[in-house]
Amino acid sequence: MSISLKFPDGAERAYDDGVTPLAVAEGISKSLAKKVVAAKIDGAWWDLTRPIENSGKFELVTRDSADGLEVLRHDAAHVLAQAVQELFPGTQVTFGPVTEDGFYYDFARDEPFSTDDFDKIEKRMREIVDADLPIIRKVWDKEAAIVHFKSIGEIYKAETIDEVIKPGEPITIYSHGDKWGDLCRGPHLPSTGRLGKAFKLMKLAGAYWRGDQNNAQLQRIYGTAWADEKQLDEHLKRLEEAEKRDHRKLGRQMDLFHMQEEGRGMVFWHEKGLTLWRTIESYMRRRLDAAGYGEVRTPQVLDRVFWEKSGHWDNYRANMFVCETVEGEELSLKPMNCPGHVQIFKFGQKSYRDLPLRMGEFGACHRYEPSGALHGLMRVRAFTQDDAHIFCCEDQIEDEVAAFVELANSVHEDFGLERDHIALGTRPEKRAGTEDFWDKTETQLLNAARKAGVEPVIAEGDGAFYAPKLDFQIKDAIGRIWTCGTIQNDYVLPERLGAEYVGEDGAKHRPVMLHRAILGSMERFIGVIIENFAGAFPLWLAPVQVVVATITSDADAYAHEVVAAMRKAGLRVEIDLRNEKVGYKVREHSLQKTPVIAVVGRKEAEERKVALRRLGSQEQNVLGLDDAIAALTDEATPPDLKR
Ligand code: ZN
Repeated sequence: MSISLKFPDGAERAYDDGVTPLAVAEGISKSLAKKVVAAKIDGAWWDLTRPIENSGKFELVTRDSADGLEVLRHDAAHVLAQAVQELFPGTQVTFGPVTEDGFYYDFARDEPFSTDDFDKIEKRMREIVDADLPIIRKVWDKEAAIVHFKSIGEIYKAETIDEVIKPGEPITIYSHGDKWGDLCRGPHLPSTGRLGKAFKLMKLAGAYWRGDQNNAQLQRIYGTAWADEKQLDEHLKRLEEAEKRDHRKLGRQMDLFHMQEEGRGMVFWHEKGLTLWRTIESYMRRRLDAAGYGEVRTPQVLDRVFWEKSGHWDNYRANMFVCETVEGEELSLKPMNCPGHVQIFKFGQKSYRDLPLRMGEFGACHRYEPSGALHGLMRVRAFTQDDAHIFCCEDQIEDEVAAFVELANSVHEDFGLERDHIALGTRPEKRAGTEDFWDKTETQLLNAARKAGVEPVIAEGDGAFYAPKLDFQIKDAIGRIWTCGTIQNDYVLPERLGAEYVGEDGAKHRPVMLHRAILGSMERFIGVIIENFAGAFPLWLAPVQVVVATITSDADAYAHEVVAAMRKAGLRVEIDLRNEKVGYKVREHSLQKTPVIAVVGRKEAEERKVALRRLGSQEQNVLGLDDAIAALTDEATPPDLKR
């Protein structure tokens, strides 16, 4: 007995030399031994069948854990590469990393792959799993490895080894029996059978060797892999559901917005999209008014000198849209609103009686993002934040943050978004300020969240450079998590820009600045709620709430009357008098996700009634016109005005 392993539950056990993690797992239970995929010793990965070399903290990684999935996906990439090379001789392998929900592998091959090849490749992958080939780890020296890979025509591998591995440094090769091998750090499963068959090839894409367009073009095959079939099915269902809800698709279908090449990352809001925007903005404005915020507006473009003082010119220039005038002035579009708000705070003397001072702005900002990172409304270059800053003194921080947590929760709930958790992002590796400073500011946020009845989840190292933060993690209707809303307690910017107030003692003091947003950006938030509701907004948010549709032209005059009465009651109404069958009209407005269609024909006109049809329902509810309007206006009232 000379190896002592310390388990996560604190237990410490002794083992004979040469014991493997798999043997350790078998000693604990058979079911555990089936589920493990790798181990960690003092945090470092270790293959299951590799004899443990020294004592230390020991952890078995099971296939259903996040770490375990990573191991499985890495193995799936290797099995994919073997299958492809067996089926398409002459194909070279390059890199095959793990992704968020699967893996990919980049191949060098003259002829193009097609998705029609996927069935054949998956079939071969399953055969490799069935063959349960032992996965063998071998340590080679660099020169021998280069010679070997060159001899089998793997030029890319040889090049990688030549560049990445230092002379004399051993490298590890993992092989599937004697059939196939790849350079790899590991860890890998003991045999291909343990991978299981919960994988699927997803798509093909082009790629370049080392991501450089001047290099050879490669073909990338993406796949997904999971611990079991059930997880795989759930994942595929989620993807299908997400595709149905894609805000870019619904944005077109519902005529909300579009984007085009000349304005990358910038949105053309159509009338209906802007109606949605204005509805959200009005709602937010009411909530902020009620919470004691004042609204301001600061310049869109400011002189370079301004951004030098704020520190953005030095640290953030690569993300700024800089422009120059004919007079030679250098200016930048604002990437954020904070320094502008400090100017308003500094205008005129402030006293402790003015604090806390809550200053809000629907601030339009521009930030350069690489074109490859842009994604519909979710990642844009021009966006409007529901931004605000709270200037306060130190002993007001907890109350202000707690009040903000409650406000943000209530706003998210009104949009049908459930809170998953609040994350407390703590001191990052690269940071300003002393340990005492971080102890203090992290504790402030932690206590404030607790005051609001929330226990935050610690996100180690996730804080900003100058301050910790609370991030709101929101769950949508299909269980996806979005970060919407954040608050930070910043001591740095007020110092840097010289913000002060006169305290009760008559002396000058520095305020603390709380940066906070609830929606984040209007653009992204609208993207999130389009997907959350799959476009079928509750009545208060729907850009068009009611379409009045006629059955025959006899009812045209009455339809106009209905529209006028509804509009007068504050409803957003459209009319459809086209000479089409009412079924056709209903289908068309359903595609636009109109929540209510008020059908009127001769009978309804005579009786002064409307037949209401709800989106997705076959039923008609016939009501007197006044009753219908009363019910709809009540339903269309924003949730904050109902309370
Ligand atoms: Zn700010």
